[in-house]
Amino acid sequence: MTTSDRDPWLLTPGPLTTSDETKQAMLHDWGSRDATFIETNARMRRSLLDIANAADTHVCVPVQGSGTFAVEATLGTVIPKDGKALILINGAYGHRMVKILSYAGRACTVYETPEDTPPDMAELDKMLGADKAITHVLAVHCETTSGILNPIADIANVCEKHGKSLIIDAMSAFGAIELDAKKITFDAVMASSNKCLEGVPGMGFALIRKSVLEGCKGNAHALSLDLYDQWTAMEKNAQWRFTPPTHVIVAFDSAIEQFKKAGGIAGRFKRYTENRDILISGMRKLGFETLLPDNLQAPIIVTFKMPEDPNFDFEAFYDRLKDQGYIIYPGKLTVAPSFRIGCIGALGADEMHGALAVIEAVLKEMNVQTGRPAAA
Ligand SMILES: *Cc1c(COP(=O)(O)O)cnc(C)c1O
Repeated sequence: MTTSDRDPWLLTPGPLTTSDETKQAMLHDWGSRDATFIETNARMRRSLLDIANAADTHVCVPVQGSGTFAVEATLGTVIPKDGKALILINGAYGHRMVKILSYAGRACTVYETPEDTPPDMAELDKMLGADKAITHVLAVHCETTSGILNPIADIANVCEKHGKSLIIDAMSAFGAIELDAKKITFDAVMASSNKCLEGVPGMGFALIRKSVLEGCKGNAHALSLDLYDQWTAMEKNAQWRFTPPTHVIVAFDSAIEQFKKAGGIAGRFKRYTENRDILISGMRKLGFETLLPDNLQAPIIVTFKMPEDPNFDFEAFYDRLKDQGYIIYPGKLTVAPSFRIGCIGALGADEMHGALAVIEAVLKEMNVQTGRPAAA
């Protein structure tokens, strides 16, 4: 296929490239009360619980909208009006949860580390020991801002020791990086249709501990974001309260079936890890440097420092890559001027090598000698 007769490859953290099979699944119309659709919806909810090994302890509550809607709905439903959250921040998505709680009128305190630094467990332990008012801890599994993998198992252990409820934004990790409810104690985890499970955008979901959600009636600050109501209504008649994103759900169900056939989390982790490793080693050959050391780098998205060469112009670089069929992602960081390249979506080694070849050619065209950044 030439670049002109196919969509560009999305080397972004979502929406991302979906398979033809997933796109094909959407070429029908479904009534929301139709038995086939109801069955599909139930299968999708069950599969999402299974992915986290959480079917015995948690329930899956889907919600219309992007991932942020699921985060906002979960925080508003699970944290009571008199609760207080400690938010672990090392990027934009941690900051977003602070904003969400300020809208919802929930008290919170933060523990912030730089974007290239995971939280320190001794410090977390100290903070939880010092502030008895804290009821919930909010953490981001993979902080997509930099691509850093936060130590979620260690965080869960400290929370459990202090009897705090842990809520995880695993948006960009769910399905690719293991999160097993039988090994890691959490009360809620949120993710969406359009990240590592490779569906199309339009639906978020939360897996919430059933015994916790049962006590959440009346917490929510917004009707459409009330996951207690969403859950109880769906349990009653198997239907969504308000118009469901039918095409998104059917595509998601197909994407999840493909995910299972391709080896589930282990298969996805392996393909994304290969994508990341090809990308990083190729970019290093061109002189680029990653923001993160390899031991903190998740196989989701990679942040590269801006090259120092005065001939390098990010906007022009971006546009030329796009013309050649590859969409990359601008940086959102404060620690260093940077840009990002994703390794998730329905793509593999061929596409990563293809992107590298185009990057090399574009650097030549721009007369950039090396991708090396300025010395720190
Ligand atoms: C993508 C993402 C979200 C949700 O973003 P939306 O744009 O609302 O889909 C939340 N948290 C993390 C860590 C993400 O990567």
